[in-house]
Amino acid sequence: MKALDYHEATKHSWARIRAEPHYLDFENMPSPFKIYSDLDRRPLPKRRSGTNMPALSAVADPGAPAVGERVPSLEDLAQLLSAVGITKRRLYPGGEVLYRGASCTGALYHVEVYIVCGDLEGLPAGVHQFQPDDDGAGAARAIRWALEDAGIVRVAGPCGAFEIRGDKLAVETAQGWLEFDSVYPALGSVVRSGLARSCGADVSEGDCILVGDHMETSVPGLFAAGDVVIGLDQISHAMGQAGVAATTIRNHLAEERPLRR
Ligand SMILES: Cc1cc2nc3c(=O)[nH]c(=O)nc-3n(C[C@H](O)[C@H](O)[C@H](O)COP(=O)(O)OP(=O)(O)OC[C@H]3O[C@@H](n4cnc5c(N)ncnc54)[C@H](O)[C@@H]3O)c2cc1C
Repeated sequence: MKALDYHEATKHSWARIRAEPHYLDFENMPSPFKIYSDLDRRPLPKRRSGTNMPALSAVADPGAPAVGERVPSLEDLAQLLSAVGITKRRLYPGGEVLYRGASCTGALYHVEVYIVCGDLEGLPAGVHQFQPDDDGAGAARAIRWALEDAGIVRVAGPCGAFEIRGDKLAVETAQGWLEFDSVYPALGSVVRSGLARSCGADVSEGDCILVGDHMETSVPGLFAAGDVVIGLDQISHAMGQAGVAATTIRNHLAEERPLRR
């Protein structure tokens, strides 16, 4: 099916919309924006004009392969964020409706976008909230700097040695030794599912073993539980999964030969 045919077949019809008695209660609707009112705003550059390239052609165009490191500029970021910004404002009896680039659902749950970035020219590294409501007539957009305002200091890696100093844990960082009340490591992991894979078990893209509701893999009689299975990586979860697997194994065995207790 062509994209346009799909659009025509699934879009709202004028007649259906007019016949719908539902209306928006402007007085009582939730705010369309999440506002961190105590945080400063940083304006973004104005959105650049479009390329006149049809959207489907842009999607189909593989583009030139990226070579080397490319750090996006603030203009690039603004352009990217315009995809979730306000594209149109329209006055209706009772109030104004703001149309967003990305759909914000009929139930008025709007898209919230956060940018997690390293240092960019004009924007320090950190977590920023994109605030589309400053986009009056295509004017500057605003970004807020959350960690800085909360007084949280960021130190770039790598980490080196560590030692206990009294009731503190000291860690050697690129900016010298720093002391902490507690340290929480955020680690990556390598899933060791090779054995199950070599038995023919299906695994996910991230190499986790795929199992059914009763923890049985795609190989009948082969079960898996814990971190090696896709899902929450917690001890209680692993134990629960092991319990389900053990019960199912017992039931399978009982089908072959009654197990009496
Ligand atoms: C830093 C950190 C903090 C965590 N904190 C918590 C917490 O506070 N609370 C919580 O509930 N969970 C926590 N977890 C998660 C929790 O540790 C795991 O969810 C849990 O240990 C998973 O149990 P498991 O038996 O599936 O895997 P594991 O505990 O990883 O056991 C797998 C075992 O298999 C062995 N093994 C691997 N390959 C082979 C091989 N080829 N041959 C033989 N042996 C092999 C490994 O050495 C390991 O001993 C934490 C994890 C980490 C890394």
